[in-house]
Amino acid sequence: MVQETIFSKIIAKELPADIVYQDERVTAFRDIDPKAPTHILIIPNKIIPTVNDIEAEDEAVVGYLFSVARKLAKQEGIAENGYRLIINCNQHGGQEVFHLHLHLVGGQPLGPMLSSHG
Ligand code: AMP
Repeated sequence: MVQETIFSKIIAKELPADIVYQDERVTAFRDIDPKAPTHILIIPNKIIPTVNDIEAEDEAVVGYLFSVARKLAKQEGIAENGYRLIINCNQHGGQEVFHLHLHLVGGQPLGPMLSSHG
């Protein structure tokens, strides 16, 4: 049984969120604690807890997250300058909400991808 999360409630409109896009397959809303001028989370409406849980039948919706990210980046006016797409997985990845989500972050130079190892 897949565990519901705060994001399921946002999809169902049981919790408020600044939803910027929604259709039958995905929902996108602004992150409550933005790390850059644009910080949007794009999530499948189906609960897939982590990247580790993606199954073959999910490949289409996972690819679709990127199509929606591309459209939203253009809509936000950040496509030309560039942006970063991030998916965190489990503890070492820093995942906090166990409902797969693609972070779309941009609107300013984002600095190095990671702090140095070691
Ligand atoms: P992650 O660490 O990849 O699991 O990211 C979870 C993200 O969800 C964080 O950036 C949080 O700020 C964001 N977040 C948590 N609760 C909410 C909420 N109610 N509405 C919007 N974003 C949220």
